[in-house]
Amino acid sequence: MTTSSQTKSHRDKWSAVKRGFMGECPHCGEGRMFHAYLKVCDACPACGEELHHQRADDAPPYMTIFVVGHIIGAGILFMDEHDLGVPDWVQGCGWALLTLVLSLWLLPRMKGALIGLQWALRMHGFGVGEESAPALPATAASPT
Ligand SMILES: [Zn+2]
Repeated sequence: MTTSSQTKSHRDKWSAVKRGFMGECPHCGEGRMFHAYLKVCDACPACGEELHHQRADDAPPYMTIFVVGHIIGAGILFMDEHDLGVPDWVQGCGWALLTLVLSLWLLPRMKGALIGLQWALRMHGFGVGEESAPALPATAASPT
């Protein structure tokens, strides 16, 4: 008898996260994951891996805010502690612009990395149809 771990192929989590971060298919690393800024392709154009199973939801914006907030917060505290002679209005505009640019740059990368992790962990339907699971007996399938 074969177990599910014997029939499933190994999926490297870090490789999938890295490929997703780069906006590449977590399976082959050649096809693009997004067909627009945050729109995920239904399937990889290179290998055909289905990507529509992804359920990133609110996690990418949360992770982006977490990372950007720490970078910007540390920068503002550093500038506050060390008087470098930068006028307040320049700092205000600069930090706001840097926050906007960093957030827009990081958001699709965070989403791609999360989808890569979901793919590697076979979450939300990633990996369905990969194996032919034995059908449950009729008595086990119905709770009577
Ligand atoms: Zn692919």
